[in-house]
Amino acid sequence: MGVTGLGRALAAAGDLVLPRACAACGRPGAIICPRCRDEVSRLALPTLGPVAPYPVPVAWPGCTGTVSYEGVTARLARAFKDGDRRDLVDPLGRLLADAVLRALAGEAPGDVLLVPVPSSPAAIRRRGDQPTLLLARRAARVLGPGVDVRGVLRMARGTADQAGLDRAGRLANLSGAMRASRPSLVRGRRCVLVDDVLTSGATLTEGRRALLCAGADRVDLAVAMVTARRTAVRGLPFPSGPD
Ligand SMILES: [Zn+2]
Repeated sequence: MGVTGLGRALAAAGDLVLPRACAACGRPGAIICPRCRDEVSRLALPTLGPVAPYPVPVAWPGCTGTVSYEGVTARLARAFKDGDRRDLVDPLGRLLADAVLRALAGEAPGDVLLVPVPSSPAAIRRRGDQPTLLLARRAARVLGPGVDVRGVLRMARGTADQAGLDRAGRLANLSGAMRASRPSLVRGRRCVLVDDVLTSGATLTEGRRALLCAGADRVDLAVAMVTARRTAVRGLPFPSGPD
């Protein structure tokens, strides 16, 4: 699809659903109004290639994403995940599908397994479903035959809420925390591990480890949105002030 097709894809997605209110600004009409759709297109990542969180996790394999997570896109992600706007599954699933295509580097998507990062049991109880699994299923439908979805990753042990932890805490909290419940579904397969938002990279790093441990042939990473708050400029390893 690429960045240029993003606005068209979102417009097509918006036309398929009954009008209600824009999930980002509340304006009556389409689920994402034209003004907010333009804003989503403006937030398309400047690179078609892999991105990294900052600081970059050790042995980070690269992750493809479609748009920056800020402003309108952050509001859409929150409305979908923790609000009552599951009707955003189509436009957000299309953003994820675009990132998966980039992960496949232009190859036709055939015999690819999309694996969503797992939700914690507490989050599943709270929400009643798994938003990332829904996004992965919609992305697979957009990508067409040959792309399967299997939610095989499980939290193997209890973990603290990632939201309150710094990067080192997130990595330690998740290290060894996931396992593939049915390794036979993964063994020898080309997998793309998918999530809605790339933040520290800790969740994707652990999920990839678990899939490779279960025998996956290859595991690429793809997300719909990438947090913009970790900038390399802020984190450059130079001493502050004159010496
Ligand atoms: Zn709007």
